[in-house]
Amino acid sequence: MTKRIAIIGAGAAGLTAAWRLRNAPCEVQVFEKSRGYTGRAATRSHGTVRYDFGANYITGPPARIRQLLTDTLPHDALATIDPPVWTFGKQGNREPGDPESNAAPRWTYARGINTLGKLLVEEGTLSVQRTTRIHHLTRTNGAWHVHPEQGEAQGPFDAVLCTPPAPQIASMLQQSTADADHEAHLQQCIAALEAATYAPQFAYVFGLAAPLQRPEPFHALLNIDRAHPIAWMSIEDDKPGRVPSGQSVVSAQMSPAWTTERVDDDPAAYTPTVHALAADVLGVPLQPLAWTDAHRWRYAAPTEAAPDAPLDAAHEVGLYFAGDYRVGKGRVALAMDSGWTQAERIRVVIEPR
Ligand SMILES: Cc1cc2nc3c(=O)[nH]c(=O)nc-3n(C[C@H](O)[C@H](O)[C@H](O)COP(=O)(O)OP(=O)(O)OC[C@H]3O[C@@H](n4cnc5c(N)ncnc54)[C@H](O)[C@@H]3O)c2cc1C
Repeated sequence: MTKRIAIIGAGAAGLTAAWRLRNAPCEVQVFEKSRGYTGRAATRSHGTVRYDFGANYITGPPARIRQLLTDTLPHDALATIDPPVWTFGKQGNREPGDPESNAAPRWTYARGINTLGKLLVEEGTLSVQRTTRIHHLTRTNGAWHVHPEQGEAQGPFDAVLCTPPAPQIASMLQQSTADADHEAHLQQCIAALEAATYAPQFAYVFGLAAPLQRPEPFHALLNIDRAHPIAWMSIEDDKPGRVPSGQSVVSAQMSPAWTTERVDDDPAAYTPTVHALAADVLGVPLQPLAWTDAHRWRYAAPTEAAPDAPLDAAHEVGLYFAGDYRVGKGRVALAMDSGWTQAERIRVVIEPR
């Protein structure tokens, strides 16, 4: 019988795992709650403008992920962002950034960072069921079923790979059941996932009806003393194919501390405040303002990884876990690498020796 694998989440980790399993002797079905691919590596449109409102670029890939990005997948739309990242402090003083960090390539795609997900799906002919939020899992007679919030349960699956942010997987597993012998695995995984911590971030985007006159030649500004409400600002104009000439798009991502105090509020309520703060950091007015966007990332980036041992022990019952919470750092490339690692573990079990 062909083995069947369910992957929950079509983010960087889930799609990389599905890609890695594409030629394995198994059927892989990915379930994604949203309409898009690549999760927090997210792109939106405003008219003809395209902008990233989660991850800005891919950096620091382990060798196998770099090869996937720059060699294996089509790379005509892959581009590096060349202007450097500068820094700023609480007082707004802008300084050139770390030369070593600035020398490392920062990749994006011409039509948006979410092109990565589209390429993995198209080139890998992956099967992704979108707008399908998995509510819980059940395990009976050695096989898993996944239960969407709406619609029929799907299965049986020999293995399930879970890739949403750790707190979301923990609440999914809290609703899940396994045969009595294996219930302990679920409880141990929940405890491990609850040990992972995340920082929230509100993200803002400002569309300008004229080109921004930036005071220095930076692509982005990083707050290094972590004492400013803004953690990061960057200019989408530096990414090819995003912003028509005569316009500018500036993005501002707020510090975890500032966001935590407001995380249950509507982020749009703070747009005027952030607009003023952002102009102050840039040292130039963000005018004429044509449009804005605001987004809450409740689980923007992990600050503490989940412990490996309980999650790896669950392989025994066909449960696998991948995502940035396994590395404790919010990085697209590391999430991809984690998906790859878990796909390798699944392959060991399903491939004939
Ligand atoms: C504001 C911001 C800025 C960032 N900047 C950078 C950057 O510049 N560079 C960088 O490398 N990284 C950056 N990161 C971090 C990076 O985006 C993440 O580390 C990475 O994308 C995580 O990938 P993942 O696959 O682990 O998780 P996710 O991208 O969260 O993917 C999980 C997927 O699971 C889906 N899902 C969740 N629950 C369910 C369910 N119940 N059923 C079905 N599907 C479900 C989600 O919709 C999502 O698509 C940033 C993140 C944020 C938020």
